[in-house]
Amino acid sequence: MLIDHLSQQLRQRRELGLERVRRIAEGPCAPHLPVSRPGAATDAPQPMLAFCSNDYLGLAAHPAVVEALAEGARRWGAGSGASHLVSGHGRAHERLEQALAEWLAPLWPEGARALGFGTGYLANLALMTALGDARTTLFTDRLNHASLIDGAQLARAEVRRYPHNRVDRLEAMLAECATPVKLIVTDGVFSMDGDLAPLDRLLALAERHDAWLVVDDAHGLGVLGEAGRGSLAHVGLRGRRLILMGTLGKAFGVAGAFVMADPVIVEWLLQTARPGIYTTAAPPALAEATRASLEILRGPEGDARRAALQARIRQLREGLAALLAAHPGCGGSLPESATAIQPLLIGDNHRAAALAERLRQAGLWVPAIRPPTVPEGTARLRITLSAAHTEADVARLLDTLASSLAR
Ligand SMILES: *Cc1c(COP(=O)(O)O)cnc(C)c1O
Repeated sequence: MLIDHLSQQLRQRRELGLERVRRIAEGPCAPHLPVSRPGAATDAPQPMLAFCSNDYLGLAAHPAVVEALAEGARRWGAGSGASHLVSGHGRAHERLEQALAEWLAPLWPEGARALGFGTGYLANLALMTALGDARTTLFTDRLNHASLIDGAQLARAEVRRYPHNRVDRLEAMLAECATPVKLIVTDGVFSMDGDLAPLDRLLALAERHDAWLVVDDAHGLGVLGEAGRGSLAHVGLRGRRLILMGTLGKAFGVAGAFVMADPVIVEWLLQTARPGIYTTAAPPALAEATRASLEILRGPEGDARRAALQARIRQLREGLAALLAAHPGCGGSLPESATAIQPLLIGDNHRAAALAERLRQAGLWVPAIRPPTVPEGTARLRITLSAAHTEADVARLLDTLASSLAR
């Protein structure tokens, strides 16, 4: 009965073109890598040029980070053995939290503390459920990441969703809110569009309405702002009302996440957030690798990598703008985005999928993102760039797109 039901549901997804297939990377995360399809063991892996990872600074396979992981495993072993509140919290985790807090300290003039989590998904569940009690209203942007949406659903708080980046609508909701605690919740950089939240206006609103501002900076941290401090530093924001969630598997190139906020908020999360309590602490070696990554990312090499990424972003946007001008009938458009996430809007689901398929046949890996991940009628190619891409890599993408769009 269950199997029949699920088989039928799966068949339906396949017929609607919604079936997802995992491709198998046969090498480390990098722009150039061999890729195979599951079950195709007899086919040779196809060499691909990928524009889909979140390894924005090219640190995932950086020799110093890899070495810190190996050395960390020799020093601390493979697993942590328990959750943080039992015996799994080691010196390596402690050092990482302190290093993160020291790096980001300028954002909280009155002091703040960092707390590690297994993944960004868990950190967002933790934040939403531990802070979102029955005395609280969560105000969340409609385009927020799935982990924030899921967290808000699990929370006991009232949840109000506001249209994407509509500060005026949010302000009206805040004005009529009667709960004693109010949390504005937003992505710093939106993951499917690459655009920025109006963080300065959101923080001003938080201050005016006695609310707090939760920023999920998964795609801004390491990439934007002085010393890679992220979206908040990018617009020069600081203040006690900020609650930051940062992930360590994107620009950091490793795995994990953390929350940084006022020490009382962090202590509350440590004491009560179930997604942080009822789970085994990450392997200590990951914390050592992340600390090595942080050292690179916040220093001159990080600056050089951020500059390289910005050069690739400019090259891609100028190239795409020229391309779209040359093919006015192709239906594509290029929304504003100053980040590593560059969506090429196509609109029609089948056209977007066909374009991604033509690129794949030419050895380019660019995902087509379709509803329900993005709103109906806004299917797109989601191009993500990395400091590890060369000028020639981006030129190849532009050339291939030119011939694919012309068809
Ligand atoms: C990737 C992502 C997360 C989840 O982080 P993981 O560490 O991958 O679980 C949360 N929020 C946003 C905006 C993300 O892009």
